[in-house]
Amino acid sequence: STPAAVLSAISAGGRQGVLFKGGEHIETAGNVDAVAFDKTGTLTEGNTRLTDVTARENVSVSAYTDGGSVDSDLPADSAAEDDSLTDDELLALSAAVQSRSEHHLAEATVDVAADRGLEVPDATDFQAVVGKGVNATVDGRTIHIGNPRYVETVLADRRIDGREAGLEAVRDLEANGKTSVLVVSETDERLCVLGWLAFTDTIRPDAAEMIDRLRERGVDQIVMLTGDNERVARYIADELGIDEVYAELLPEEKVDHIEALQERHEAVAMVGDGVNDAPALATADISVGMGGAGTDVALETADIVLMSDKLDRLPYAFALSKETRRTLY
Ligand code: ADP
Ligand code: MG
Repeated sequence: STPAAVLSAISAGGRQGVLFKGGEHIETAGNVDAVAFDKTGTLTEGNTRLTDVTARENVSVSAYTDGGSVDSDLPADSAAEDDSLTDDELLALSAAVQSRSEHHLAEATVDVAADRGLEVPDATDFQAVVGKGVNATVDGRTIHIGNPRYVETVLADRRIDGREAGLEAVRDLEANGKTSVLVVSETDERLCVLGWLAFTDTIRPDAAEMIDRLRERGVDQIVMLTGDNERVARYIADELGIDEVYAELLPEEKVDHIEALQERHEAVAMVGDGVNDAPALATADISVGMGGAGTDVALETADIVLMSDKLDRLPYAFALSKETRRTLY
């Protein structure tokens, strides 16, 4: 039967917004000496907003209208002919593709297009490439929206007009903490960067202090595991004082990192909110779900749920568990 001390800890936790899904988790949580955090929706609020819509300038007509006429066929006086999109046109095209996706970046894109009252064309043949981006057919051409990894692996070494300018712009945005994607059109085997989009998310105001508290309480390894870009992840981690960051991870790769931590630690906790965190949450010795904003999958797999998304409840939960263990042994 469950010891009285454990029952009373469960109810004390409950009053403080910490839901232990069973007495055995209190015992394990008291031993946690390594914690892995997802970024988006866990250390940040997960309220992704589209902040930058930039159509590339000087896009030549031939680069993305029907093949046939290439630059050299144009009369000299039309060499400067510019068929760049306006920012709103770029946004409408992007929203067309993203209306088929459920990703948080997609939602943020569609929202801004709607706010601006843009007419969004239809998209067909939608495809998602996990961890990299999406594509679909819009107005007779394929529109690709993806991160640099998408460009490097899906579009690979195909010639893309504006590739270097686009990648450079995206890398600058990422270095400033913005998750960014390129928008590339494809017609008759010709690829052209139309522009780029950047997104930000708010760091939770209590995240940095929570990290300090965990360290004070004997958690000696704290890592961030994210599907997002390395530069963006590093920027957020620096703000929070987390020095170990693993970025651009697929869900199974998050699992690998949890297993590696388990080899060196007594008990490893994973804190996450998303569908792509579920395998890592299931692998950790203690899984912690964010109650306010988390997905159902994350909450179902979690051993501990922070009911109100208050991050200070995490060090509290570990301290309560440790004290409770002390009374048991
Ligand atoms: P996260 O939840 O951390 O964003 P994901 O694996 O879902 O992790 O996505 C990783 C990256 O893949 C995103 O940061 C983005 O660059 C790219 N990506 C995924 N889905 C989309 C999409 N619908 N549109 C554009 N980019 C996407
Ligand atoms: Mg997340």
